[in-house]
Amino acid sequence: MSTYALHKEIRVRDKADIVVVGGGPAGVAAAIAAARCGRKVILLEHSGQLGGMGTLGNVSVFMGVGNVTGIYRELIAETLPDKLPSHHLESIAPQFNPFVIRHYLNQKLEKEQVQVWYHASFVALLQGDGLTRSRAVAVNTREGLVAVEAEVVLDCTGDARVAVDAGAKYHSGRESDGLTQPMTLMFMMTDTGKPVKPYLPEDGYYYEHVSDLPQGRKLYWERGEKGTLLVNMTRVKGNGAKIEDINYAEKESLRQAFSVAHYLQRNGFENYALTHIPGQVGVRETNQIVGRYTLTEQDVTSGRRFDDVVAQTNYEIDIHSPDGKSGTDERKVSGYDIPYRCLVPEGVEGVLVAGRAISATHVAMSSMRVQATCYAMGQSAGVAASLAIEQQCDLADIDIARLHAVLQAQDVVFLK
Ligand SMILES: Cc1cc2nc3c(=O)[nH]c(=O)nc-3n(C[C@H](O)[C@H](O)[C@H](O)COP(=O)(O)OP(=O)(O)OC[C@H]3O[C@@H](n4cnc5c(N)ncnc54)[C@H](O)[C@@H]3O)c2cc1C
Repeated sequence: MSTYALHKEIRVRDKADIVVVGGGPAGVAAAIAAARCGRKVILLEHSGQLGGMGTLGNVSVFMGVGNVTGIYRELIAETLPDKLPSHHLESIAPQFNPFVIRHYLNQKLEKEQVQVWYHASFVALLQGDGLTRSRAVAVNTREGLVAVEAEVVLDCTGDARVAVDAGAKYHSGRESDGLTQPMTLMFMMTDTGKPVKPYLPEDGYYYEHVSDLPQGRKLYWERGEKGTLLVNMTRVKGNGAKIEDINYAEKESLRQAFSVAHYLQRNGFENYALTHIPGQVGVRETNQIVGRYTLTEQDVTSGRRFDDVVAQTNYEIDIHSPDGKSGTDERKVSGYDIPYRCLVPEGVEGVLVAGRAISATHVAMSSMRVQATCYAMGQSAGVAASLAIEQQCDLADIDIARLHAVLQAQDVVFLK
C-alpha cells in the first residue's frame, strides 16, 4: 500500500494542562476530577454531546457495579436522587433519560470550568522535542485542523485512539480469533394508545419466532416513564473500530431495528411506535491497550484486590456472542479491583487510557466495560494526570498513596 507523509504547520489554537479526548463516562469524569485539582482542562468530543454510549448510543441504563462512589455517585444524586443508595457499597442499576443526562453533563462541565470542544476529533499526537514535557494534539474542528498543547493527554475515546497513535501496542477481541463483541442499535418505542401501522422497510427481515431474532431473545426494559420501551435486541457482528465493519453495522443495525420493532408490534406492543433511534450504533468492544498490567479473567473471577486500585466493580462477565449469533456468556462475579497500571500504556509517555479500552483480556473487558466503572476509572485518571504534573514525574511513577488520598477527598470510597 502506498503512503503519503503529512508535512503541515498546524496553528496552536489553545493550551491546557490536561487534554481529555472523548466525552463519554470516562472522559467527563476525568475532566471534572482534573479540574477539581486546579488544572486547566480542555475536553475534545467528536460528536455534539457528552455521555458517550450512554447518550450517543441510547444505552440509558447504568448497570450495577456494587460501588456507587465519587463523581458517579454525584451524578446519581443530582439526576436520580430517589435512586441514590444510602451507602456507597450498595448496588443500583437505574435507568436514566439520555436527553436529561446529555443536558446535565453540558451544565456540569461548564460549572466545573472544563472547556468542552464539541465536534472536535482527535487526529494525531504531536510529541515535543523530548527536552520538555510539551506535547500537543492535532484536532479536526469546525475551523479545520488545529493544535492544542498539554502536558498530559487522557485517552477516553473507548478505542485507545490516542495511545495507539502514540505507538502503544494493542489487541482486539478474543485471544483465539480477534473477534469482538457485536454492535447494537438501542432504540425506544412508546405507547400511543392506539394501534400503530407497522412499518417495515422493503428489505427488512420478517422475524416470526423468538429464535429468529438477532439475539434469539427479547431484551427490553419497560422504562420509568409509563409506556416506553428501551429495546436492546439488534446485533451486528464486527469491530466498530474498523471502517468496513462500522459501515456495515450502521446500515444493518437500522434495518434490524425496524424489523425488531415490527416483531414487537405483532407480539404484544401493537400500540407502540418507534420514537427514538440514536444517531449511531452502539459499540461494545474495539481495542485494548497493552498496559503495565493486564486485567485477566482469573482476576475477575477470583475477586482480586490490588494496592493500586482505581476502580471497583462486581458487574458480571457479560459477553454477547462475538460470532454475531444469539447467546450471551453471563457469569456472576463477587467483586474485584482494577489497578492503576491497566491505565498506563506500556512504552508511551504523557498518555493515560481510561474507560473500556484499558489493558484487559476479552473476558475481563466484558465485565469492566460498563458505565459506572468507566466513570470511576476516568475520575482516577484525572487525578493521576494532575499528580504527574504536580510531581513532574512520568504517569507510571505517580505516588499511589497520594492518588488515593486525593480520590478520598473527592468522595471516592474503596472497599478494603
Ligand atoms: C449496545 C450496548 C449496550 C450496553 N449496555 C450497557 C448497560 O446496560 N449499562 C452500562 O452501564 N453499560 C452498558 N454498555 C457499556 C457502556 O455503554 C460503555 O462500555 C461505556 O459507555 C464506555 O465508556 P467510555 O467512556 O470508555 O467510552 P464511550 O462511552 O464509548 O465514549 C467515548 C467518547 O469518545 C468520543 N470519541 C471517540 N473517538 C474520538 C476522537 N478521535 N476524538 C474525539 N472524541 C472521540 C466518542 O464520541 C464518545 O463520546 C453497553 C454498550 C453498548 C454498546
